[in-house]
Amino acid sequence: MSWSGWTKERLLEEAEKAMRRAYVPYSKFRVGAALLDAEGRVHHGCNVENAAYSPSNCAERTALFRAIADGHAARSFQAIAVIGDTPQPITPCGVCRQVISELCAADMPVIMGNLQGDIRVMTAAELLPGAFAPSDLNYGKKD
Ligand SMILES: [Zn+2]
Repeated sequence: MSWSGWTKERLLEEAEKAMRRAYVPYSKFRVGAALLDAEGRVHHGCNVENAAYSPSNCAERTALFRAIADGHAARSFQAIAVIGDTPQPITPCGVCRQVISELCAADMPVIMGNLQGDIRVMTAAELLPGAFAPSDLNYGKKD
């Protein structure tokens, strides 16, 4: 599988570079992400924690929000790779799955990896069946 010449292994290498920049003074649990845009460029994301805990942000959302802020359109991305130091390939948390379901195409691959080289690929839709969608906001509107 490749996208604009990228492979899942090379995207995971990019995610690992981002992982090294994680700001995780509390959990020490580093996560990195590499989001491939429609032009074949990579946007890095890492988790960024906060002393107040709840303002912390995951690597996947950091990469997606960065790319959106840089002018890329929602659902224009080719793939996202996520890596962490976990026994199995790391999986996005529920909050990130919801954000991925809105900002990425349903069939976009989510490449999950760990530092041992294990890889698992699922689509955005497979990661969050029955996701709350923008169309759900219109249901039940009275005016
Ligand atoms: Zn998350």
